[in-house]
Amino acid sequence: MSGRIIKILDTTLRDGEQTSGISFTEEEKLLIAKALLLDLNIDAVEVASARVSEGEFKAAKHICRWAEDHNMLDRIEMLGFVDYNKSADWILQTGCKTMNLLCKGSLNHLTNQLNKTPEDHIKDINKTVQYAHKAGIKVNIYLEDFSNGIAADTDYIFYLIDNIKGVNRIMLPDTLGILNPDSTFEYCSILVKKYPDLKFDFHAHNDYGLAEANLLACVNAGISRVHTTINGLGERAGNCSFASAVAVIHDHSEFKTMVVENKTKDISSLIESFSGIRVAQNTPVVGENVFTQTCGVHADGDKKGNLYFNKLLPERFGGQRNYALGKTSGKASIQKNLEKLGIELDEEAQKKVLQKVIEFGDKKEKVTLADLPYIIADVLGTPINTRVKLIDFSLVLKLNLKPSAMVKLEIDGVQIEANATGDGQYDAFMKAVSSIFTVRKETIPELVDYSVTIPPGGRTDALVETIITWKDKTSFKTRGVDCDQASAAIEATINMLNQWLQH
Ligand SMILES: [Zn+2]
Repeated sequence: MSGRIIKILDTTLRDGEQTSGISFTEEEKLLIAKALLLDLNIDAVEVASARVSEGEFKAAKHICRWAEDHNMLDRIEMLGFVDYNKSADWILQTGCKTMNLLCKGSLNHLTNQLNKTPEDHIKDINKTVQYAHKAGIKVNIYLEDFSNGIAADTDYIFYLIDNIKGVNRIMLPDTLGILNPDSTFEYCSILVKKYPDLKFDFHAHNDYGLAEANLLACVNAGISRVHTTINGLGERAGNCSFASAVAVIHDHSEFKTMVVENKTKDISSLIESFSGIRVAQNTPVVGENVFTQTCGVHADGDKKGNLYFNKLLPERFGGQRNYALGKTSGKASIQKNLEKLGIELDEEAQKKVLQKVIEFGDKKEKVTLADLPYIIADVLGTPINTRVKLIDFSLVLKLNLKPSAMVKLEIDGVQIEANATGDGQYDAFMKAVSSIFTVRKETIPELVDYSVTIPPGGRTDALVETIITWKDKTSFKTRGVDCDQASAAIEATINMLNQWLQH
């Protein structure tokens, strides 16, 4: 059994689309099918349910036409129902050659939902299968609610398998997601041992968060094909996630798949945008945090020969590792980010940048790579001799009242405080600063230009860079960077005072 290839049927376009609120367009469906088959090399895709809608029909037809042109029609499958000719005719008209026929895998469903005897059900199934065969369609069967069915009555499952004629694969869905790894292994083993010549699929649902664990159990029991959806989309808690399934099979079993791992992140992002459902940041394999090392100790470990290495390298799944900058950053995270930006800084400058990053990390959640050049410019532009220190300030903005500011500066070791009102908060701040220097019989440089920028990507929590142009004898610029625009302007002003007093 060692090295056996496990096949994957992806059902994002059928079972995944049953997630409430999701409806892919025809074009999106074609793009997804292409990516699944061409880029990821997934063995087969289930792309539609028969007789659902005109839109479903058009999309299915479109996908089949494309697949036929690319010699992949045998990898397209569609869900059909026990309805003699109706599903088969619908599927035939799309151009598809494989029907996954939904049969009742539990006696409870059969008697209570359809009010039929097992004998009648077998008769109907076989008629439907025969009709499909005559139309040139291969048939696999789903034993719907198999997990409850086999738990209640093993003989009913045997009866079905013994009497349904001419099907290619038998697909075992845990429709309500009730299994655990032990019961999955037990039930799958019973069938694989009793029917060594038949081919079985397992279809997991994630109601207990056990979908991937159950998938691992089923392949260990000898199941040859498993069902997944991208990002685990599906009804309720969803299906087995493709990315996790592949990682689990490759890293935790002796089996292989034929899929291309390094397209995993791409397909996950594509489905995120088409479905409008984002994966949680801490989702295994494809979540944003998986690609981000926040802790400085970890980044250092990566530098020193992958001390924090595990097999789930982001690069393996087509992602790129990021080193988050924040209050837990270390020197190594700074270096990794500088490398990415192609910036070289000496030890001293790196230390200052790190200090600033930690400072900002306390104020906001995350400092990003895009923020870093601003911080560097800020740190390197700050004069070394600081004669003026900002001890305290407050800005007041109130309805029907002129904006006002309080400023307390320390100049050459002496603290002075002033208050002022102005046309805006920053104007009030500048007037207060100006009045402090008036006391010292000095006139501060005049503000001639003021520009505010935020890093590309412009999130509301991004850092703000303020560049102010001043005029004294000559004109010069200073810069301030902060999460808040007023604070950035104030920092640029303090930088200006220090530069000005140096001359
Ligand atoms: Zn399902």
